[in-house]
Amino acid sequence: MYDVLIVGGGPAGLYAAYCLAKAGRRVAVFEEHPEIGSPVHCTGLIASESFTRFDLPRHANQAALREARFYSPGGHSLSVASEKDETVLLDRSAFDRGLADQARAAGAEIFPGHRVEALRRLRRNLVARTSNSTGMERLVSGRLGILATGASYGLHRGLGFQLPDRFVYGAQVEVGFEITSGVEVYFGNDIAPGSFAWIVPFTREGVAMAKIGVLASRDAMQYLTRFLRLPVVASRIRSRAVYQYLRRPVAVWPLPQTFGDRMLVIGDAAGLAKPTTGGGVYYSLLSAEFAADTACRALSAGDCSPRVLSRYQNAWRAALASELKVGSLFRGYASRFSDAQIDEAFQIVAAEPVTRLIRDHASFNWHKGIILALWRSSSMRGFLWRALMSRGGRIIGALRPFMKAYPAIKLREEGAATD
Ligand SMILES: Cc1cc2nc3c(=O)[nH]c(=O)nc-3n(C[C@H](O)[C@H](O)[C@H](O)COP(=O)(O)OP(=O)(O)OC[C@H]3O[C@@H](n4cnc5c(N)ncnc54)[C@H](O)[C@@H]3O)c2cc1C
Repeated sequence: MYDVLIVGGGPAGLYAAYCLAKAGRRVAVFEEHPEIGSPVHCTGLIASESFTRFDLPRHANQAALREARFYSPGGHSLSVASEKDETVLLDRSAFDRGLADQARAAGAEIFPGHRVEALRRLRRNLVARTSNSTGMERLVSGRLGILATGASYGLHRGLGFQLPDRFVYGAQVEVGFEITSGVEVYFGNDIAPGSFAWIVPFTREGVAMAKIGVLASRDAMQYLTRFLRLPVVASRIRSRAVYQYLRRPVAVWPLPQTFGDRMLVIGDAAGLAKPTTGGGVYYSLLSAEFAADTACRALSAGDCSPRVLSRYQNAWRAALASELKVGSLFRGYASRFSDAQIDEAFQIVAAEPVTRLIRDHASFNWHKGIILALWRSSSMRGFLWRALMSRGGRIIGALRPFMKAYPAIKLREEGAATD
């Protein structure tokens, strides 16, 4: 009998396994894919503070990035260089494998290629029914379970958990790209409605590449196809072969309850990602650590009841609730900006003292500070009120004529890593 059964071998599940094994608990992690870290689940941008806050493998760092350039639909641009924190670009596949090695070294048992088909609560324990690629089934029991299934919600209802109800949709490719530095972020309703598109340069075995993606309130794949055809992107692509292609939703509001009898829910499975950007690795690690701590206390007390496990939710709420609320309000508001309003916001931000505010308050992980600082600045507040009062006109189709000049990169539905 294991102390803890963890479903899902992404950052959340693997880091929880590491923390639990380090604390002397007997842990099993089940990952449906045959290889940990594959298919890749994200761009891999995380704040460098993650490496001081958590015990993380460092060999997967592809680049350190300090500067981002932002582009509005009307052609305004802004450069933001953070002196406070730098952003690290991870090879997510190698990062996840490193987390698995670290968890194994601490004593966790990891079973790639094992999908958990069902989890059942018994009086004194839990039983997971797993199956592997040959269809062989196995029953495994544990005292406590952790759902770390990412954006897969097939087990939630059966265990009494609700499903997330606010999503954004992401799609990304890795292609050969011209040599460039710094992250580029593009806004506009024809580019990425409700969110943004990005170009993140890196090198793979000495070859210049870029992760090019879109996060949108709908149809991310179609918007990515269009983004790849824009001259500013297409003219810089050096190889039309797509190395990696992923497409998946990100829940941007947490479940109302992330604990239950003998169960905890962490990471994307709990809807814990930044509402502003959809970034979820940091929150996954944080929730994994809180869950492991609560699980250890519950196991030591011999009481895995909801009353004891509620401590986990209190912990992540204390750390994240106000960030989530402010971020979500901001998303709900800014995602409705017309292109003209995005252009106006760029012009306001480009002027001192707002630039100074951004320099002083912008943080890759913590967005509440900069959102509240912007709200307090009179020029920005005036704009936000005007935006709130008007629906504004949209610059529709301004980019469309340019898209025809470049051949499309064909993205096949079935080729995408979707889970
Ligand atoms: C396009 C895109 C770009 C992104 N970029 C970033 C970024 O730059 N930075 C950032 O912080 N976040 C980013 N994210 C979000 C990030 O990918 C997630 O927040 C993060 O992967 C969550 O980790 P997790 O462990 O909770 O889930 P996952 O990484 O999704 O891991 C869950 C694992 O559980 C497995 N699983 C599911 N069900 C079962 C089952 N029944 N049995 C066994 N295994 C199962 C899945 O196969 C998967 O491997 C991005 C997301 C998208 C879509």
